[in-house]
This record gives sequence, C-alpha cells and structure tokens, in this order.
Amino acid sequence: MVDSVKLNDGTTIPQLGFGTYLVPPEETAATVGAALEVGYRHIDTAQGYKNEAEVGEAVAASGISRDEIYLTSKLHNGFHRRDDVIRSFEETLEKLRVDRLDLFLIHWPLPTRYDGDFVSTWKAMLELKEDGRLTSAGVSNFQPDHLQQIVDATGEAPVVNQIEVHPYFRNEAARQASHDHAVAVEAWGPLGQGAVLDDATVAQIAAETGRAPSQVILRWHLERGDIIFPKSMKRERMEENFAIFDFSLTPEQMERIDVLDQGAAGRQGPDPDTFDMV
Ligand code: NAD
Repeated sequence: MVDSVKLNDGTTIPQLGFGTYLVPPEETAATVGAALEVGYRHIDTAQGYKNEAEVGEAVAASGISRDEIYLTSKLHNGFHRRDDVIRSFEETLEKLRVDRLDLFLIHWPLPTRYDGDFVSTWKAMLELKEDGRLTSAGVSNFQPDHLQQIVDATGEAPVVNQIEVHPYFRNEAARQASHDHAVAVEAWGPLGQGAVLDDATVAQIAAETGRAPSQVILRWHLERGDIIFPKSMKRERMEENFAIFDFSLTPEQMERIDVLDQGAAGRQGPDPDTFDMV
C-alpha cells in the first residue's frame, strides 16, 4: 500500500509514482497503461517530455476514475512568460484529457534567462491555481535562494520542490531549504538514472535484506520522507519498484547509504544555477 504525503496546501500526494522522462511518445500509452495496471496512481510528466497526450490516452483507456490518479506536469523552459504559462497549461489539460491538473511545476528556474525573473512565472502559476483548473503549484530544480525569492515576493511557497536526489547526490542544501519552507521534496532520478544500481554497498545491503538493489535505494528515499517516481519501461521492473512497502532498512543500513554522497560530483543532471536550455 503506497503511503501518502500531506502537502502544505492540505492536499495529499502518493509518495511513490511513475516517471516518464525519455519514454518515447509512441511507447508511452502502453508503458503508462502497464504502470497503472501494476498499481501506480501517480504519474509524472512534463511539457518537455512530449508525451503528455499519450499519458492522457493511457489514463483515459485505464477506466480508473480521474480522482484516483494524481497527475503532475511541468512548464516548458520556453514558456516562462505569463501568457505562455496560461496558454501552455491549457494545452497540457487538453493533451492529458482532463479539466483539472493536480500539480504543475516550473521545470527549471533558468536564473540566467528572462532577466533572472522567475517570480513573474511563479505568479502566473498562482493565477492558474486561483482559477480552479490547477489544484497545486510547485517548482523543480529550485536552489535555496530561488525558493527564498518566490516566497519573499508572493508569501506563497510551492507545495513541492522536485530536485535531483539519490545516494550519490543527496542535495542536502536544497532539501533543507525546501523543508525550511514546509515544501515537500520530490527526488528526481531516484536511482541516479541507473548510476547507483551497481553500487557495491547497495549490493551488500540488497543481499542482507533479500531485496533487489533498486528496492534498497527506493526504500532509502521513502524512509527519508521524499516523494519518488522511478522510471522503467519493463513491467517486471515496474513491479519490483512498486513492492517496497513491506520491508525496512535499519538505521545502520540507512547510514551506510548516506555516506555514498559525492557532493556536486555525484550529480547526473545539470546544475540549476547555470542550466539555460530553452
Ligand atoms: P531513474 O533514477 O528513475 O532511473 C531510471 C533508469 O533506471 C532507467 O534506465 C531504468 O531502466 C532503470 N531502472 C529502473 N528501475 C529499475 C530496476 N528495478 N532495475 C534495474 N534498472 C532499473 O531516472 P529518471 O527517469 O531520470 O527519474 C525519474 C523521473 O523523475 C523521470 O522519469 C521524470 O519523471 C523525473 N525527472 C525530472 C527531472 C526534472 O528536471 N524535474 C529530471 C529528470 C527526471
């Protein structure tokens, strides 16, 4: 049974979901359909993944009621201006075939673009919330000072900050800043995009617990309280990643994984302070 995490606007989100980054559009409907059959009820997509329409197709074909599936999408980096936020959000609703989205995120802060102005973008996200078609607004890849700036300007904290977090890159400064603002952390690339799966310490703990390396890593995230949505296109891996609520790690096993952190060298993705791709 997947646990829920309560967000700072009173809503809840399933702590385990399914990621769709790099799932090709032509394979997305079948992949997300399989994930829904396995039991996932939280799907993470983005305008930039170019597979929202196929996610919508899978949700519609599943026959599962809309209220039982938590849907997240993210604003394309090219659409930070207010009118683009509104227009592209409407396209997202259409593609996903829904009249309300659970969570919409600013995908990247892009502090070196748009004259460093992500505050207007955040205000446009709050507008969407006011008109009722968006339930919760959040951000992704926001560094501590980015979070501080939007909270100072609007008095409204995002419900989540979706940041890269895994054993090789714990990203504790951004995690701590999120918690300081009562913002839940979503850990993207929870398996280090595959990089942590072959780790020797993880393999040892997998042997001790009789679990797969992926399950050990995902369990480490759950016990830290973060929200995760690992991606796999293979059904048996989807099932493996879903079966992590019936065991736990000891404090000593948690610590052995904690010390695998390599700081910035462990990042698999770009640095949000300099990333500027639109
Ligand atoms: P991930 O950490 O989920 O790793 C995915 C890789 O691990 C794939 O190669 C997959 O084949 C492999 N894998 C998955 N389960 C496995 C298993 N049980 N055994 C062996 N191999 C397994 O990486 P990700 O997909 O990049 O991250 C998860 C999700 O986070 C994405 O799909 C996306 O939704 C989101 N994301 C967001 C951002 C952002 O900027 N906000 C960036 C990257 C990813």
